[in-house]
Amino acid sequence: MDAAAVVAKAKDAGVHLVSFLYCDNAGIIRTKSTHVSALAGRMTSGIGFTKAQQAVRDGDVMETVTGMGPVGEFRLIPDPSTFQVLPYAPKRAMMLGDMMTLEGEPWPACPRDFLKRMIARAAGMGLKIVASFEPEWYLAKKEGDAFVPVDESPAFSGTGMTAPMAVIDDLLEALSDQGLQVEIYHPEAGWGQQEVSIRHAEALRAADNHVMYRETVRNVAWSHGYYASFAPKPYLDQLGNGCHIHISAWDLPGERNLFFESDKPYALGETGSLFLGGLMEHLRPLLALTAPSVNSYRRLVPNLFATAYNIYGPDNREAAVRIPSTLKGSEEGSVNLEYKPADSSANPYIALGGMIAAGLDGIERKLRPDEALMVDVDPATIPEAEFERRGIRRLPEDLSVATRELESDAVLLDAMGPMLAESYLAIRWGEWRLFSVNDVDFELKRHFYKY
Ligand code: GLU
Ligand code: MG
Repeated sequence: MDAAAVVAKAKDAGVHLVSFLYCDNAGIIRTKSTHVSALAGRMTSGIGFTKAQQAVRDGDVMETVTGMGPVGEFRLIPDPSTFQVLPYAPKRAMMLGDMMTLEGEPWPACPRDFLKRMIARAAGMGLKIVASFEPEWYLAKKEGDAFVPVDESPAFSGTGMTAPMAVIDDLLEALSDQGLQVEIYHPEAGWGQQEVSIRHAEALRAADNHVMYRETVRNVAWSHGYYASFAPKPYLDQLGNGCHIHISAWDLPGERNLFFESDKPYALGETGSLFLGGLMEHLRPLLALTAPSVNSYRRLVPNLFATAYNIYGPDNREAAVRIPSTLKGSEEGSVNLEYKPADSSANPYIALGGMIAAGLDGIERKLRPDEALMVDVDPATIPEAEFERRGIRRLPEDLSVATRELESDAVLLDAMGPMLAESYLAIRWGEWRLFSVNDVDFELKRHFYKY
């Protein structure tokens, strides 16, 4: 759809506001909207934001970052291919935007541009990256100051289908109206925890889908009087909200899955195996991109299906990277790597861009995954001495450790570029400082609401 078609469609649909959206360095979805009468011009001129926005951490407080003060702006230019009239707000529409300079060049701190650059780098190596985000979230009612889960149901239980039924039914409709193809729904293990997964797509579309998904879940929940939260660990006594990221690489026409080789263990061929080698090589610093909030690290603990160790394994749900078994009847289509230490406080463009940079590094440098880190049992059953012998380690146990790892990973920082890297790191440290001096209740409350 081109700009003129977007304007015509918005007018036909009786829309009055069209929001331009982006996800910032803190994982917050930000937006400004244009009235439909000015949409035609705004398709080209975009809407201005202060450059300071990419230096803003929790609480809308600005960190000190070179070139990101109150002076100067970027323009958020909408991508017409993402236009949607919002099913949960039919007088409104949205588009995802790219941060551009006043001269019309991509602004180097733009997360969506970072992902586009990594997609182009992969394409230069003959690879089309395909991904899907697998988000979990809690559905809750606000009672006084507390967010109370909608039910007390066990994992995958029939009882867990009841309380959220009206919300889920509206959600499925709203998602498919926007072209997001729902795969699986189930009540997850935590009280009030839900999972509705979306079919994989080409990488940029997959990240766009995740932003639209977060918006849709929150709004549909709200229309029923509920709050939805994607915070990594909203309740200390319940499982966390993961957002596992599935990834594979196809040939450029998208016809052959280049991770697939039928005669290899788990049907994971040479390309897939080297991509895995790259993910494993950069795993610790990657966490700062995929599990980027202070709250993320309450989720990454053993025995809760979230992953806590630098291991990979076939169908191992305690591994950082799971090699899922193939689906009967679509063996080639279903070979992928499931990266688990990710959650929805991450910016999906930055998380996926970082994973691609890591995976491509594995292919370029022929980094084979270390066989000692291949674990096909519950890591809790491995004796201490074996941990040491095989080099099995806990993943970073808090955001400060992961951020320091990122600071010394030249591959990831070069891929991001200096401006995105500096601003991104500044926000990690800003949030680390903020939450270190406050108590856990403050942390839970702040993360519950904003994600
Ligand atoms: N809730 C778990 C997590 O934090 C994931 C459970 C599962 O889907 O395997 O990642
Ligand atoms: Mg799940």
